[in-house]
Amino acid sequence: MSDKAANAVERVFALLKNAENQDYIGEPISQLAHALQCGEFAAQSGASDDEVIAALLHDIGHLCAAENAAKMGGFGIDSHHRIGGDFARELGFSECVGALIEGHVEAKRYLVAKHPKYLNELSDASKETLKRQGGPMSDEELQQFESHPQFKTMLKLRTWDDRAKLIEWPGPKPLPNLESYRAMMIKNISESFQRAGARWGIAAVAALAIVAHAGNAEAYRPFEGTAATVNNRGEFGLAMGTGETFDRAGNGFILAPFIQFSFGILPRTSFNLGVRDSIPVGPMGGRRRVPTVRSALALKYLFRDGTLQGKTGLSIGGEIDALLPDVNARNWAGGCGTFIVSNRWTWGTIHLNQTAGYTRLHNFDLQTAAILEGPIRWAVRPVGELYFEQEFERVTTTAALVGALWRVAPSFVIDLGLRGIRLDAQSINEGRVAFTTQYITEARIGFSWSTQMWEPAPKVTASR
Ligand code: FE
Repeated sequence: MSDKAANAVERVFALLKNAENQDYIGEPISQLAHALQCGEFAAQSGASDDEVIAALLHDIGHLCAAENAAKMGGFGIDSHHRIGGDFARELGFSECVGALIEGHVEAKRYLVAKHPKYLNELSDASKETLKRQGGPMSDEELQQFESHPQFKTMLKLRTWDDRAKLIEWPGPKPLPNLESYRAMMIKNISESFQRAGARWGIAAVAALAIVAHAGNAEAYRPFEGTAATVNNRGEFGLAMGTGETFDRAGNGFILAPFIQFSFGILPRTSFNLGVRDSIPVGPMGGRRRVPTVRSALALKYLFRDGTLQGKTGLSIGGEIDALLPDVNARNWAGGCGTFIVSNRWTWGTIHLNQTAGYTRLHNFDLQTAAILEGPIRWAVRPVGELYFEQEFERVTTTAALVGALWRVAPSFVIDLGLRGIRLDAQSINEGRVAFTTQYITEARIGFSWSTQMWEPAPKVTASR
């Protein structure tokens, strides 16, 4: 591990040393001098190691960006704060370092909006880049920025950044060189590797410590539809149906376990993998009882923050599902797309889903779901769902579910549901279309749990 840390530091040093002769975007000093001054101002003000390293590396995005990265005219790399933050994370620096680097441009936009005088203190180059970075923040952006855990440090970093443009270092002590930061940087990387390792260890025993971790447990059970929410970045979710039974034409089936893993890897996006075994338990009319395994991969994206995200108005999301062929069944792959709108009031929450797809049996398919939930502040809230699905030329499903969600802990929710289903099947017998109707009841019980696997990414708004 220490090799990896040492190599990462070498890479950073090479970039910065290379920048010794590179001017600092329209300012009269070099990139290296700007970085060293900024780091030293942080150190002088008693900043933590994370903060000092972030100060030193805050403009690394200008130096590490790909050749073809978008540029701001003659003013360096567009989105250099984000490129730099991600670069630091990739090298293994702590999340705090990455977040602070990412926040330094937003801090400028914040300060200009909050203190119009600040604009006059900016250098001409800084004023020019401000325009390209989105200008002063809107009220909504201000609020969002203030809610960031590192908000205050981001502002401090900004002041060091603004001061670090001295043509001559005033002393009295000489400006510390890059080498003086080596040990600090290696330690930062090594420690954050250790922390990450510990987190994965925690995840491995999560089943034992299920309620100890805070997450949001937003996986949507026991419904067919879903909510316009996605995992936070770094959040892992597990949803499981501990048992579902149903009866089809006198044959009993257990659908168990339904397992869904969800990962928040990119901002506003969840990746989901759902797996469900169907195990026949009835006599099956003499046929073999072979379990089938059904799985689907989904990508869910949040288009608009709304009441479900603590903002106002509708929460709007979309999901694309790849329906993988069942194991032990004769079908193929399919796919579908869902549009999701949710809204929360004090008395309850409504989610509306509209799905269009192509099934594993290669029929066009439309699904509509409406979920109604009781007040979110109740520990146990009643829920219901109306569901309609038309798989063309095959079957029409109409279903109603009543149930309850019990929020045992913020990260752990138990769900219960009873679902009545009417199936209107269409079949072709000897050239004739025949319709049959069947009624089915299903009991659903399960849970969803989530945990923050690594530190949350900054909720800094886009400035491009
Ligand atoms: Fe800077």
